[in-house]
Amino acid sequence: METISVKTGSRTQLINITGKVNELLSRKNIQSGIAVVFVPHTTAAVTINENADPDVQRDMLFEINKVIPFDDGYHHFEGNSAAHIKTSLFGASEMIIIENGQLQLGTWQGIYFCEFDGPRSRKVWVKFISGGE
Ligand code: ZN
Repeated sequence: METISVKTGSRTQLINITGKVNELLSRKNIQSGIAVVFVPHTTAAVTINENADPDVQRDMLFEINKVIPFDDGYHHFEGNSAAHIKTSLFGASEMIIIENGQLQLGTWQGIYFCEFDGPRSRKVWVKFISGGE
């Protein structure tokens, strides 16, 4: 298993980690298989979405922060229930096909670390599994 360190700078933030996953993959000799990208946190997630226009990330955060407000009479003593809810909606993992030694992402797709309770130092675990055809 590999670990990527992510330092986030805002309360909510989407950070493109595609390059870091690709860099880890380039050190392996895997032609065909799968990559599992897993976020071991309860207030951060991972998603795959558009890598071209940064306004897409801005709009995603703007809307999710409206739908799930930071304060809404939550009971959780830590005061970060909004982050927990967003994390479950986005999800803790993504699975990406590897073919010809490359992550098989669409042209406009990037892998994004999703911070929902930053700024913090975070981890992403990546597992490459060789096999299949
Ligand atoms: Zn909490």
